[in-house]
Amino acid sequence: MALAPILLLALGGNALIRKGQEGSIEQQFENLKTPLKQVARLSQTFRIILTHGNGPQVGDLLLRQECCSKNTAKLPLEILVAQTQGQIGYMIESSLDTELMELEGAEQKPLVSLLSYVVVDANDPGFGNPTKPIGPVLREDQALSAPYPVRETAKGPRRVVASPRPITIVEKREIKRLIDQDFIVICCGGGGIPVIRQGRKFCGVDAVIDKDLASSCLAREVGVEIFCIVTDVEGAYLDYGTPEQHLLGTVTASEARRLLATGAFPPGSMGPKVEACLEFLGNGGREAVICSIDSIDQAVAGRSGTRIVRD
Ligand code: ADP
Ligand code: MG
Repeated sequence: MALAPILLLALGGNALIRKGQEGSIEQQFENLKTPLKQVARLSQTFRIILTHGNGPQVGDLLLRQECCSKNTAKLPLEILVAQTQGQIGYMIESSLDTELMELEGAEQKPLVSLLSYVVVDANDPGFGNPTKPIGPVLREDQALSAPYPVRETAKGPRRVVASPRPITIVEKREIKRLIDQDFIVICCGGGGIPVIRQGRKFCGVDAVIDKDLASSCLAREVGVEIFCIVTDVEGAYLDYGTPEQHLLGTVTASEARRLLATGAFPPGSMGPKVEACLEFLGNGGREAVICSIDSIDQAVAGRSGTRIVRD
């Protein structure tokens, strides 16, 4: 029997913490139900890879250690990214397990959540120019007195950290083998643990990789057919945040590339999503779509979201 097409779903941090929420663990588990019910249904038609962000969670861990680390050693960002892979991987896996059990009973698909690390270039210009927002939106006074870099984002001022480009996913062969055996694989959490190569060794670095770019890198390396980026807006808008804003429906890759170059999609949020879709299509991917948490199945069916298609 022919294998089902591979669908890679990249879940935004807002799949766990919605706008305006404090982000308690109960809220995060509750929020996961909406996307994961849809993922469970989609797993009946597709082989599924799930990746996820960690912006709010990794920023919270940094704040925690800054508040109370007088008597304990400071943990570098790469370790905090690994921690968020564990915590979010656990939350997604256990919640999806419940949804699959409801849908399929004892016949449910096997699933696994993998710690993943991702190679970056030690000379990446991203190390000298932090762009990746993490943690909560700051009040104006907090933003002005923060002892770390802060940037204005569409949601307000936030802490930013270095975000080098992903080069390769270290566990790509393992991931491919697992999906070929019909496992649902949760991986590349928070963009993956960033590492550089030093001779034959890997060595962790202080950064957070953009999960959309890590996902398109993985998509290329394992031969994904459909790439779906799930976030807290309906898709990519033109004139976003103005009274004239309107949602892009279907656009060709060359049109999306032109719009990206005009600055319609800012770095650190919508920019890397459009870029990731373009990279995916440029590498032979079939379909790329950016959609909201509430309409994943509609978007995969071509009825919602921003679809970027090959020219
Ligand atoms: P995620 O956690 O899903 O990666 P991001 O915050 O990184 O979410 O990106 C989604 C956000 O991008 C939206 O909430 C919106 O505020 C912002 N955004 C900026 N420009 C645009 C645009 N042109 N169209 C849609 N959203 C945009
Ligand atoms: Mg993001």
